[in-house]
Order: sequence, then C-alpha cells, then structure tokens
Amino acid sequence: MKRGEKMEHSIKAGLMITSASDYNMEICRGANEACKELGIELVIFFGGSVDPNVKFVQSSDYQKANVYAFANYLDLDFFEAVNGVEKEIFVNVKTVCNTCSGTGAKPGTKKVTCKKCNGRGSIRVQRQSFFGTVVSEELCNECNGTGEIVEEKCEKCKGKKYVLVRKKFTVKAPKGVNTNNIMTLKGQGNCGENGGPNGDVYVIFKVKSHELFVRNGNNVFYELPISFTEATLGAEVEIPTLEGKEKYTIPEGTDTGTEFILKDRGISDVNGYGKGNLTFRVKIITPKNLTDRQKELLREFSNEREEHLTEHKKNFFEKVKELFE
Ligand SMILES: [Zn+2]
Ligand SMILES: [Zn+2]
Repeated sequence: MKRGEKMEHSIKAGLMITSASDYNMEICRGANEACKELGIELVIFFGGSVDPNVKFVQSSDYQKANVYAFANYLDLDFFEAVNGVEKEIFVNVKTVCNTCSGTGAKPGTKKVTCKKCNGRGSIRVQRQSFFGTVVSEELCNECNGTGEIVEEKCEKCKGKKYVLVRKKFTVKAPKGVNTNNIMTLKGQGNCGENGGPNGDVYVIFKVKSHELFVRNGNNVFYELPISFTEATLGAEVEIPTLEGKEKYTIPEGTDTGTEFILKDRGISDVNGYGKGNLTFRVKIITPKNLTDRQKELLREFSNEREEHLTEHKKNFFEKVKELFE
C-alpha cells in the first residue's frame, strides 16, 4: 500500500438477482434495510457478472441479512417489552393455490415442453470476462428448470402456483425482549416450492425508547433532579422504578453526578438469566430567580462556611499553582 493511499474499510455485500420482478424487489428492499443495520453496503447485480472488488460478507452476517430480508417488524412500547406482551401481526404469506393445487396450470390443461430450453431445464450462457469467454450453464427462467411449461395458466394464481394470503399471527413477546431480537414462527411462512416444506416467519422486535428510562441491555438508567438543599442536608425523595414510585433516602452531602444502583431492579433477561440493575444519577439543580432575602441568606451561609476555602477548592488551586510556577 502506498503512502497516503486511502484504506478501504467498508464492507460490501453482493446480491445477484436475475430479473426485476416484484418478488426480487421485495428481497432487495429487505436485504438493503438489513445491510444498513449491519453497517454493510449492499451492491445489487442484475444478472451480470460480479464486481471482483466486492467482498462478500461473512456467512453469519449474510444469513442475518437474509433473515432481515424476509422479516416482519413488530413495534413494542418500552413497558410492553419490559413486562412481555401478546400482539397480533398480519403477514402476507405465500400459500399453495388451491384452484390448481400448486401446479400453476388451468385445471384440465396439460403441460408442454419448454421452448426456451427444449425441455433441458437449463440454458447455455456465454460471457466475455477478463480471462476470456466464459460459458456457463444457467437455470432456464422460463420453466424454472423443470423443462415444462403449462399450456394454459391457472386464472387464479396466473401460473405462479401460489397466492398471497394475509394471515394473522399472535406473537407472545417474552419479558425483557429488546430491539433486534428475532422470533421464529417455524413452518408458518411461505409455502415451499414444488411441494417442499413451508418456510418460517421471522419477527424482529423494535422497542421504542422511553422519555424517562434509558435502556441499555437489561439495565435501566435515568437522571434524578434534586435540590441543592436535599443534596446538602440529605432527604427522603420519591423515585420512579419499573414497578412504580417508591421512597429513597438521599444521604447528607451527596455530590451532583452521584449514581445510586438498585441491584436486580432492571429488566428481566429475555433468556431467563436474572435481571439488570436500575441506576439513577442525581443532578443538583442550582437555585435560580432568588428573592433578595434568599440571596442574603445564602451570602450569610457562604460567609459562615468560608466557602472560598473549602477542601476541594484548596486542592484544586494548589495544583494550578504547581502547574504554572
Ligand atoms: Zn393456481
Ligand atoms: Zn425451460
């Protein structure tokens, strides 16, 4: 690598499609969204040769991208995810056409030999590449490799062998489910090709953020505003928890930014491995718009404390002195 040359760090994924059908476009859209989430640039090839500069992503990422391509997103509120919830989703599932029983042919009509491939199921394709002419055998897209086509297409499915049916699924989101958790509804998905087993329905959860509680895994965090006097003298304050409000004693002399941890009071782990913690950080609110009397009291307090000579300040200014002298 030459000096000054820009290092390419981006990961690209390749997706090859043969034609711009609705089905292929659906895959592209899903894969594109999935790759964006994985931080991968997606390059789509329309039947042509693959750009040698494109590095294919690792298989696990690619599988994940595939899952995402076929997934249905389910939005949950913060507390629905915390406590678990049952929700209904509707998914368009490819279902065997019952008019033609999945043959694609109009009932009573025969199948004929595919003219494009002469019944071979594949066609020979020649391509010019860097290494010379490359000949490859490709699946015939007219008959999908079967070598036969129907004489007359089924009117209901237009020869596609399946129809899209909007199906309702009840999804039991477990306690502690989080964004990007995937639930698989086994065998509930699209019908298999030529009588193969059904695919799965993937549900990816998206948990909305909460205006007060900030979620980080199973831990929950928030900032608690307290007054200057509460922090100084200590106080019993009301704090929010995932189970409701409760009393908490802030000790005398609490600094701003102090964190209090309520162990095992966070979110239940989705796989049953215990619970996270609930943490709150106190933020001392500096009193503003004081009356003359209040200001006077504070000045009096300050003089009494010799505020400018408190321990922290003394240490700080001694360090400043060492630094510059
Ligand atoms: Zn049909
Ligand atoms: Zn054919």
